[in-house]
Amino acid sequence: MAEKLQAPRGTFDVLPDSAALRERLLEQVASPLFSQAGYGRIETPTFEDTALFARGVGESTDIVSKEMYSFVDQGDRSLTLRPEGTAPVCRAYVEHGMHKLPQPVKLWYEGPFFRQEAPQAGRYRQFFQIGAEALGSDDPALDAESIVLAARLLERAGAGGTRLRIGSLGSGAERAEYSETLKAYLRENASGLSEDVVARIDLNPLRAFDAKHEGTQAVLAGAPRLLDSISAEDKAHFEEVLALLDAAAVEYEVDTTLVRGLDYYTRTLFEFTSDRLGAQSGVGGGGRYDGLVEMLGGPATPGIGWAAGIERILAAAEAEAPPAQEPAAYVALDEGADRTAAFALLLKLREVHGLAAQIELAGRSMKGQLKSASRLGAKTLVIFGGERGQYDAAVKNMQTGEQTELTGLTAGDYFDRIAEHVLAGVKA
Ligand code: AMP
Repeated sequence: MAEKLQAPRGTFDVLPDSAALRERLLEQVASPLFSQAGYGRIETPTFEDTALFARGVGESTDIVSKEMYSFVDQGDRSLTLRPEGTAPVCRAYVEHGMHKLPQPVKLWYEGPFFRQEAPQAGRYRQFFQIGAEALGSDDPALDAESIVLAARLLERAGAGGTRLRIGSLGSGAERAEYSETLKAYLRENASGLSEDVVARIDLNPLRAFDAKHEGTQAVLAGAPRLLDSISAEDKAHFEEVLALLDAAAVEYEVDTTLVRGLDYYTRTLFEFTSDRLGAQSGVGGGGRYDGLVEMLGGPATPGIGWAAGIERILAAAEAEAPPAQEPAAYVALDEGADRTAAFALLLKLREVHGLAAQIELAGRSMKGQLKSASRLGAKTLVIFGGERGQYDAAVKNMQTGEQTELTGLTAGDYFDRIAEHVLAGVKA
C-alpha cells in the first residue's frame, strides 16, 4: 500500500459538523452584526508581497522574524502567506483610493491566516480569523464602536468566560521617550531578565511585558508604566474610549502591562481572553494603528481594528453542531423502478418545490432504504416503481407510518401528485 499522507503539521480539515458551526458564526452572528454597523466585507489575497508584512507588521516581531511562510515564486518575487489581516486591508485601502471616500471606511473580513508557530492545543499554523478595520478617523467613538462589536460578536457566538483588558500605548514623542526610559530600566536590571528579553532590549523593549519568564516578570513588576507617561491628549482620548465602553455596558480592566505581538499599534490596545481556553487563552484583540497606512505609502490615515480567532471563539462557545437539515422526502427505489424517473422526481422536489430531498445512492434493499430514511430524519418516504407500474408510487409518512398508494398517475401529473403528498406529509 502507498504511504498514507496527512495534513501538514499544525493544520486541520474542517469537516461538516465544524463547517456548520463556522457557517452559523459567519452568517447568523458576524454578517448581520457588521452590516448593522455599516461595515462592508473585504477579501484580500491569501498571499502578498513579503515587504508588506516586513514593513507593516515590523521586522522585530516574532511574526515577521520567525513565523512567516515566505517563498520565491517562478518570477523571482518574494511572497508571503498572510500572517495577519490589518496590513493587507491598509494596502487595499491605499491601492483603491479609499481615502477619497467619506471617512471612516469600515471593513470586515474572514479567512485563513498562516504562522509557523509551534503547534499546540488552540494554536495552529493555518487558522481562521474574523476581523474588522475602520480607517480614516481617530475619533474615540470609533475605537469604542470597534471594541463593542468585538464584545457583541463573542457574546452572540456564545463564547463564555471572556475578559477584556485594555490599555493605551500613547503616541508620538512621549512614547519614544518612554521607550528610552524602559530600555534604561531593563539594562539596569538585565541580570534578572531572560536572554530573549535582553536580546530584544533595543529592538522591542515593550515586548518584555509579554514574557512568561519569572525573573523577567519580577523585574517588570517595578518597571515604569507607559500609561503614566502618555500625553494629556492621548490620555483624554483613552478616557473617552473607556467612558463609551461604560455607556455600552462592556466590562473591561485597564491593564498597564498590555502589549501585543505587532509593532504598528498606537493609543488604544485591547485583548479578549477566555478562561474556557487553555494556555492559548487569547480569543481576539486589536488596537489603533494611526501610522500604518502612511508607513505603507499612503496618506496619513488613522485606523483601528481587531481580529478574533474562529477556532478559539468556537472552543470558548463549546457549541454543538446544528443538526443537518432533515429531508422532506427520501426517494426509495423498489426493485425494477425506473431510476431515471426517480432521479427526475428528486430534482423536481428540490428545484421546483424547494424541498430538501435525498435519493437512495448505494443500492440498499427496501429495508435498508427505510432505515436510511429514518436515520436522516426524512419526513416522508417516496417508494417508486416496482410492482406498482411505471408511474405509480407510494408516499409513506415517516411520523405516522401511514402509507398512501398513488395509482392511476399519468406521465403528465405524477411528479406533482407525489409532491403534493410530500408537502402534506411535511406539514402534518
Ligand atoms: P493576533 O493577530 O495575533 O492579534 O491574533 C488575534 C487572534 O487570532 C488571537 O486572539 C487568536 O484567537 C487568533 N490566533 C492568533 N494566532 C493563532 C494561531 N496560531 N492559532 C489559532 N489562533 C490564532
